Order: sequence, then C-alpha cells, then structure tokens
Amino acid sequence: MFHKINLLNFDRLKMKEFFRSIGEKSFCADQVMIWIYHYFCDDFNKMTNIKITLREKLKNISIIKTPKFIKKYYSIDGTVKWIVNINNHIVETVYIPEKSRGTLCISSQVGCVLNCHFCSTGQQKFNRNLLVSEIIGQIWIAHKKINKMKNYPSITNIVMMGMGEPLLNLNNVVTALKIMSDNFGFNISKKKITISTSGIVPALNKLSNIIDIKLAISLHASNDELRNKLMPINKKYNISLLLMTVTQFLKKSKINKKGITIEYIMLHNINDTLLHAQELVKILKNIPSKINLIPWNSFSNSKFLCSKFSQIQKFSNFLINKGFITTVRKSRGQDIHAACGQLTGIISHQIKNSNI
Ligand code: SAH
Ligand code: SF4
Repeated sequence: MFHKINLLNFDRLKMKEFFRSIGEKSFCADQVMIWIYHYFCDDFNKMTNIKITLREKLKNISIIKTPKFIKKYYSIDGTVKWIVNINNHIVETVYIPEKSRGTLCISSQVGCVLNCHFCSTGQQKFNRNLLVSEIIGQIWIAHKKINKMKNYPSITNIVMMGMGEPLLNLNNVVTALKIMSDNFGFNISKKKITISTSGIVPALNKLSNIIDIKLAISLHASNDELRNKLMPINKKYNISLLLMTVTQFLKKSKINKKGITIEYIMLHNINDTLLHAQELVKILKNIPSKINLIPWNSFSNSKFLCSKFSQIQKFSNFLINKGFITTVRKSRGQDIHAACGQLTGIISHQIKNSNI
C-alpha cells in the first residue's frame, strides 16, 4: 500500500531534500514550513503562494498529519492536560500557564524502559518511540487549542519532561528540537527548550555534538548506592561517569553557560537528610548548576512519601548557604495527575473536570 509522506517528520534540511527529490526547488521547503509552523495550516489548498501544480503534487504524495488529542483535563490551578492518541496508544501533553509565559511539557516515548521506582511512567510497559511528527504534533495541536482559549499565554517554553526518556529516542528528538528552534519552524529560542534526562551517557555525548539546548539532569540521589536503588540506569552509568559527561557537555555548550539544572526529587527519609545535602554539595562542587528540588508527586501503589515541607526548606537552605542557586519546583496540575512523574497515559474516569 502507498503511504503518503508526513511532512511533519522533516526538519528544514530534510524538507529541502524532499523537495529536490520530487524535482522541485528547495526554497519551496521554506514556503511550506512557514505555512505549517507559522500559519498552522495543514491544507495544501490554502497555501496560496505555492503554484497549483505543486500543491496538487503534494496532495498526492504527502500529508501534514498530527496525532489526535482525545481528552482534556483542566486543573484548578490552570494547568491543562491532553491525552494524545498515538495509533491507539496513549501519551500525555501538559500545558502550564503562568503570568507571562506558557510552558508545554511534551512526551517522547510511549512508556519508558528505565523503570525509575518513583515514577509512574516508569511503572508502565514501554511501547515505542514517538515519531518526529508525533513529538512536533503535540506542540502543533496544543498551540491551536491554546489560541482559542481566552487569556491563556501562548507557548513560550518547551520542556521534554513528559512521558519517556528523550535520549533513548535521540534521532527523532533531535530532529524535533531542530524544528522547534528553526526560524522556519516554531521559532522558539533554544534557551527556552529544555531536555530532561536520567543520564544516558553515550546519547548525551552525541547530543552535545549535534545541538546546543538547555539541559536538566535527573539526579535524585547523592551517592551511587542510593541512586542504584532508585534509578536502575545508574548501574550502567554511575554518578561520576554522568557528571564527567556533563562537564564535557558544558565545555561545548553556550546555552548552558550559566550551568545546567540538577533535578532532585524529595523523598521522605530516603534522600532528604542534611547528610544527603552535604554529599550533593560535594559531588556538584565543580559542576556549574542550579538545583531544582522537586516535591515527589504520589501515584497509586507507590511506596514512597514526599518529604515534609519543613525538611524541603531545611535542605534548600543548606544548599543555598553553600552557594548553590536552589529552587523548589511548584507542583502544578496534581488534581488532574498532570504533575511530574504522574503521567501514565491512562484515561482516568475518577478525575473531575474532564472534557473531550
Ligand atoms: N525521562 C526524563 C524526562 C521525563 S521525567 C527524566 O527522567 O529526566 C521528568 C522529571 O520528573 C524527571 O526529573 C523525573 O525524575 C521527575 N519525576 C519522575 N517521577 C516523579 C514523581 N513521582 N514526582 C516528581 N517528579 C518525578
Ligand atoms: Fe523514565 Fe524519566 Fe520516569 Fe525514569 S523518571 S522512568 S527515565 S520517564
């Protein structure tokens, strides 16, 4: 069967190659990208500055196809979560509006193989990597939906902190990052796009040679013994190897000049004592970084508890006193299971406020 080519899978270079391969001039790639990413147009008939014969040709061989958003949940704090249908599998996209910015948290895989014990995505089976069109499609549709919502800021920031480990889907993620940041794509500054990773060392090395993008490392523990227990990937790439790789990454990166983000979940009586904070200070002393403490978000059947607020404050003050910029992440969208680590891709009938 003949499959039409989905143009949402191409960054600018690949789009140009595609146009040349069908005997057309490569500048048509720029024109089509502007229609897709600046005017959010998926109908070749409406691309009026493109000659009619080319439009007909494109209609015959290609398509602009995004995944479908099939359900939407509103949080009382303004966060919106969309359930996205990916060929009958489900991922989630979360929009977090603030006064002057709108952050979109997107998924890169259906499920995750890495099985971090504190993460609900990790507790479900891995299904597959998302295609470029499925990663980019989340932004494309979310933009259209948000545009119709009154008084919501448009998307200014993207975080790859949804379902999946982005560095285990490196090729598609990199192509998607290029489309996000390209002037002819979504034209979002690379300073406003963050990739969060549990630390896949070889992929991090590769990434640093391909694209400069904001980096967040999910550290979550201050020593290997503890990290091995929480994040099985640490047995393959331990803390010192990971931090050495981050140091190399930083040497090549302009965007992370001020430092990367270290994500650290706060788990009651597990990683939240001042001894852990002391260890953290030691291992991070040569890594320009700011530390983002994340109050752990619960999900069903999990054995963890979130640290007490007072303990998070103590931990944070200790790090600040040692000279680290330290913030505590505000948990958004908990009532609709849209907060970090709560994304499962399961449509919950218990969540109020749902709306198709
Ligand atoms: N796989 C990537 C990105 C997705 S997870 C990564 O691990 O970095 C995004 C962030 O949410 C990561 O820092 C992750 O460790 C954190 N997270 C996972 N489960 C969580 C939970 N239950 N509560 C709070 N944060 C969680
Ligand atoms: Fe995967 Fe990240 Fe969850 Fe770990 S925290 S299981 S790497 S999504």
